[in-house]
Amino acid sequence: MQSAGLTDIGRVRTENEDAFLVEAPLLAVADGMGGHAGGAQAARTAIAAIRAHINPEGGRPASAIKRAFTRANRTIREIRTAEGYEHMGTTLTVAAVHNDVVWVGHVGDSRAYLLRDGQLTQLTDDHSLVGELVRRGQLAPDKARTHPKRNVITKAVGSDASVRPDIFSHEIRPDDRLILCSDGLTGAVDDRQLAELASTKRTPKAAASKLVAAANQAGGTDNITVVIGDIETVKPRPRSNAALFVAAGVLLVALAIGGAYYWLDNTYYLTISQGRVAVNRGLPAEPFGLRLGRFDRRTSIDIKNLPDYYVSRLEQEIAVGNAKRLKDVLADLAGLAEREK
Ligand code: CA
Repeated sequence: MQSAGLTDIGRVRTENEDAFLVEAPLLAVADGMGGHAGGAQAARTAIAAIRAHINPEGGRPASAIKRAFTRANRTIREIRTAEGYEHMGTTLTVAAVHNDVVWVGHVGDSRAYLLRDGQLTQLTDDHSLVGELVRRGQLAPDKARTHPKRNVITKAVGSDASVRPDIFSHEIRPDDRLILCSDGLTGAVDDRQLAELASTKRTPKAAASKLVAAANQAGGTDNITVVIGDIETVKPRPRSNAALFVAAGVLLVALAIGGAYYWLDNTYYLTISQGRVAVNRGLPAEPFGLRLGRFDRRTSIDIKNLPDYYVSRLEQEIAVGNAKRLKDVLADLAGLAEREK
């Protein structure tokens, strides 16, 4: 992955409270708040937690992201209490490329975008007052950038006893460009301009400089941070492990004898889809490339409300058995998620 990151104090602020990480295939942006030295320290703490807890090569990205956010939240709260920084907190947006998807973890109003064939897609939802109003259809998107309350964020790392990041994955292709940035960029430059300046005709480094320059030209009222990563090749997802392979192979022979399709269609396993628990029919294995499972539906159970243990189990796919067992397991997971809320 070709990548670059750039941060700039802007033209008005006396301190840069943004921080970033470019350790491809891991990218992150944090925009600290809290005045004095608190904001800068919060952002740096968040980035350090990302570096310490997420290894994109290591597997189980969703639980690693969850853990990194939990640790960042805890550490920032400790500093906040020790130093008396009452409003200390930070946004945190992380993108980790893993096989054929990018996993995103996100809290606050920094953003992750995907630029594909010149088309810009915002992957993250802004956790801000205006973001909520836009999502509810109560504010036109083009009014959001100039709204008097545009700086009010509804979620930050370090502001509450626990933090629940949005965690989801998005498929990637070669030649995709990932862009992470703080609101110092998106408050100054609209999406159309952003797409144009971030064009893949420029190297990540040149595009980042162009974007920062444009934000400064528009006033530079806030710190500006841009991180860009280009997807060059996409690794296919590895097949299920050897034990499952053998088990599925044996089953396949048994299945061929009779009742195969009925049985497969009434056997379930759980996975994660777009940050939610998903139900699949069949078996989570592909012996000899033969698909034995298929996606059935996405439930309303958000993995951010589940304990880490279950998230990492889900990443490895949980076999549940028949429809009755499925009902019980889903009820248990829903109960757990409800309690954690
Ligand atoms: Ca900012």
